[in-house]
Parts: sequence; structure tokens; C-alpha cells
Amino acid sequence: MKAVKAYAAKSADTPLEPWQLDRREPGPTDVEIEILYSGVCHSDIHTARNEWKGTVYPAVPGHEIVGKVTRVGESVTRFKAGDTVGVGCFVDSCRHCRNCNDDLEQYCENGHTQTYNSLSQDRKTITYGGYSTHIVVTEHFVLNVSDKLPLANVAPLLCAGITTYSPLKHWNVKKGDKLAVLGLGGLGHMAVKLASSMGAEVTVLSRSKGKEADAQRLGAKYFQLTTDPENMKSMAGSFNYIIDTVSADHDYNEYLALLRTNGVMILLGAPPNPADVSAFQLIGGRRSLVGSLVGGIKETQEMLNYCAEHNISSDIELISMDQINEAYERTLAGDVKYRFVIDMKSLK
Ligand code: NAP
Ligand code: ZN
Ligand code: ZN
Repeated sequence: MKAVKAYAAKSADTPLEPWQLDRREPGPTDVEIEILYSGVCHSDIHTARNEWKGTVYPAVPGHEIVGKVTRVGESVTRFKAGDTVGVGCFVDSCRHCRNCNDDLEQYCENGHTQTYNSLSQDRKTITYGGYSTHIVVTEHFVLNVSDKLPLANVAPLLCAGITTYSPLKHWNVKKGDKLAVLGLGGLGHMAVKLASSMGAEVTVLSRSKGKEADAQRLGAKYFQLTTDPENMKSMAGSFNYIIDTVSADHDYNEYLALLRTNGVMILLGAPPNPADVSAFQLIGGRRSLVGSLVGGIKETQEMLNYCAEHNISSDIELISMDQINEAYERTLAGDVKYRFVIDMKSLK
């Protein structure tokens, strides 16, 4: 056991504060990592504030982790001390169910172990995430990170990157497809970069007029305001795909109406409350409303390699650990360009 510094939420309505937690000694298959950068995902905020219920306090969020290997267990073959590595949204799974065997550990039928606020496979130990100086993860769930791209900008690929890459691949988004990205935040800006790199014609749907120039710089062809009802009407039947990244409750029916016949609306955002969906919005145009959860380990490695090859990383604002509460407020206000990343040196 090694005591490490961390930042934790101690309750749903108090700011995050310094804390200390114990990391296990690396077992035979474990990799011990010194965390260099940790991205700030909106899921961290949902969890810290118990918006999805079930948060166990103190909670240490953070699942966009890039760092250096410090020690490895004797059976580890793929990593050695000094390697640059990443850890994403989950750190273990049963490894033998149908989905684990199909490289879809995120859908483990026996319950995967998320990087924070989750039960380890022993079903007893709670996990703590990347807002800490070190983490110990079993080898299978550790990713290789190329040193080609700036590491702070790579950290958000471990959640925002794979969460948007995986559905683009699964639904075979390709050249010429008309794809809308709803919400230009952490996930949204990665969806714009990745979909446009795959040849889709991308439109950003946003409530924030001030993001128009950025949308185009990131690769979108068009920018449309969702707050203007006339504008929304004019887009009826326009898109093959909508990638919905909005974190707050909203009316799915308004956006389903923007899909063409056979269009697919892919929910990535996870608002706290259930929503009403009108059957007529789906029946009318043989439309689909679907969802997707991050991506498996094999696909995450594929995404990291793809991003290194295509020079794609996240647009970030680098902060120190003690700026985390301010960063949460700015994220909630939609004021992040486009991912906060914590420089973990600030905690050492
Ligand atoms: P984020 O950076 O806060 O971006 C969300 C964007 O949604 C905002 O920038 C804003 O864009 C828009 N938005 C926010 N509140 C809104 C409101 N009340 N009405 C309309 N639009 C609103 O968040 P993120 O980190 O990208 O995460 C987005 C969501 O995805 C969260 O719910 C998160 O938990 C979830 N998530 C899911 C997965 C998965 O595997 N499916 C993985 C990671 C995260 P505009 O200013 O452009 O309107
Ligand atoms: Zn995330
Ligand atoms: Zn499994």
C-alpha cells in the first residue's frame, strides 16, 4: 500500500478538496503509473454531485489519464518502467463473458469496473480515479500512448476521444454523410474533429453563438443555433446522423425531427432524468434513437493510434489541481475550450 495525494468530493454539495488514498502494491499483472495529466469529463461532475445517484464519498473522479509507468509486476509483458501510458474509463472486467471475449469490456455482462466510484472485481473495493498522483491498473486495461502528440492534449482522448470514435466506427460514418454534433463541449469537439477526419460533412448544433468560429476551425462545415425555433424548423430532415453530447435534460423529439429517413440519433450525453420520446418521431422516418458507451480496450488503442497518425488531439485549458472547482463551474456554464486538463505536477 502506498499513500498518494488526491482531490476528492466529500459530499454532493461541497467543493472538491485535498485528500489522501491508498494504492495497492502492484500485483503480478499490475502496472503502477505516475499520473502526469488528468482530463475533466462532465461525468466527473455528474458523479461528484451525485446526479446519477450511487456516489460513494469520498469520491475521486478522473478517467482521462496519461502518465509514466513507475513499476510493473513480474508477469507484465507489454510495459516497463518509463513507458508513456494511458488509462480510460474502466480498469477491469470479468474477462470471460461474451462481451469481454468480443473486446467490448465496457459492456461486460458481469459488470465492468469503472476507473472511479465503482466496485473492483472483488466486489468490495471502491475505485478512485485520476485526480491523484498515482494509479495501479492491471495490464490489460493500460493503453500505449505515443509521444508524438503533446501528452496533456492526449489525455481527453481516453474518454472524450473513444466515446465519439466508437459510434462513428460502429455506425460506419463515412465520406459524404451529413452528421450533426449537438453540444460543443469536450465530447462534442472531439466528435467534430473525428467525424470530419473520416470525411463526414459536419454541422455543429449549439446554443452558444460564441462557438461558431471555433466550430469551423475544428472541422465543421456549418454552425446552427438551437435556440432559434425558425432555424430549427429550417433544418427538418437534414441529417443522416446526430451525435448528441448534451449533459443536461433536453427534448429528444426536437432533434429527431432533424433526421432524414433512416437517420440515426446517437445518445452519448447522459442527462440525469429519463426523457419522453414520441413514437411518431421514429415511425415517421424509420429513424433510430440509439446510445453508446465509451469503447473497448482494443478499440481505444486503435483510436489512440488513429489520432497519432492523423495528428488529432483535444483543445485544452491546462489547470492546476486547486482550480478544479472553478473548472467545474465553467464546464457547467458551457464555458470550456474545450476540455480542462489537470497538470498533476500541481498536486505533488
Ligand atoms: P461538456 O464538456 O460539458 O459539454 C456538454 C455540452 O452540451 C456543452 O458544452 C453545451 O454545448 C451543451 N449543453 C450543456 N448544457 C446544456 C443545456 N442545458 N442545454 C443545451 N445544451 C447544453 O460535457 P462532456 O464532458 O462533453 O460530456 C457530455 C455528456 O456526455 C455528459 O452527460 C457526460 O456524462 C456524458 N458522457 C457519456 C459518455 C458515454 O460513454 N456515453 C462518455 C463521456 C461522457 P453548447 O454550448 O455548444 O450548446
Ligand atoms: Zn468521461
Ligand atoms: Zn465480462
